[in-house]
Amino acid sequence: MERKKILLIEDEVKLARFVELELRYEGYDVTVCHDGREGLQMITDHAFDMILLDLMLPGLTGIEICRRVRKFSDVPIIMLTAKDEIMDKVAGLDSGADDYLTKPFAIEELLARMRVAFKHVHAGSTKKVHLEVQGLEIDTDKRMVTVDGTVVDLTKKEYELLLYLVQNKNIVLSREQILNEVWGYSYIGETNVVDVYIRYLRSKIDEAFQRKYIHTIRGVGYYVKDE
Ligand code: CA
Repeated sequence: MERKKILLIEDEVKLARFVELELRYEGYDVTVCHDGREGLQMITDHAFDMILLDLMLPGLTGIEICRRVRKFSDVPIIMLTAKDEIMDKVAGLDSGADDYLTKPFAIEELLARMRVAFKHVHAGSTKKVHLEVQGLEIDTDKRMVTVDGTVVDLTKKEYELLLYLVQNKNIVLSREQILNEVWGYSYIGETNVVDVYIRYLRSKIDEAFQRKYIHTIRGVGYYVKDE
């Protein structure tokens, strides 16, 4: 099996060195970079299987790098952040990151998150279906969402959340279920990330098209209604 290529962009030299050695030991091919702008250039020039991206970096922030990378690549990105406020997490995820990890973290935790993110890549590429709910269509081949033929511009997580809701239309899904399925594991006690993303979707779909696709059952969860 070919070794997976990981790019680690982290300006704390000691931490970067530690992660590099641990990942090498696990059999990954690791490239390290300490500067944001340089890191973005490396992603543009070379093919990596995963990016581990620090949030606060000289040159360019992790969020900015993530946004730019998402314009041309779906490579899994895990954000490493020293801050743990929910809004930072949401901003990180909304920029297109697949996951985030708060420093300091145990290396086992990072390895586990990496495995989850790799699994999601393969899961996403195998099923190609066309889903429709009253004018709202999802083309999973192109990862494209339209309402009455008009393309809706969604971030990666918004798309994944909508897809999960539509695949399970008319079934009420709890925040925990949604977190587990869309984010890949439990964010204990932080289910409000789901509420934040439901708000994003409602503003881009329900409000923008004057429809009501996403319904709330107070204290229970959310569902997409198809009559
Ligand atoms: Ca940093």
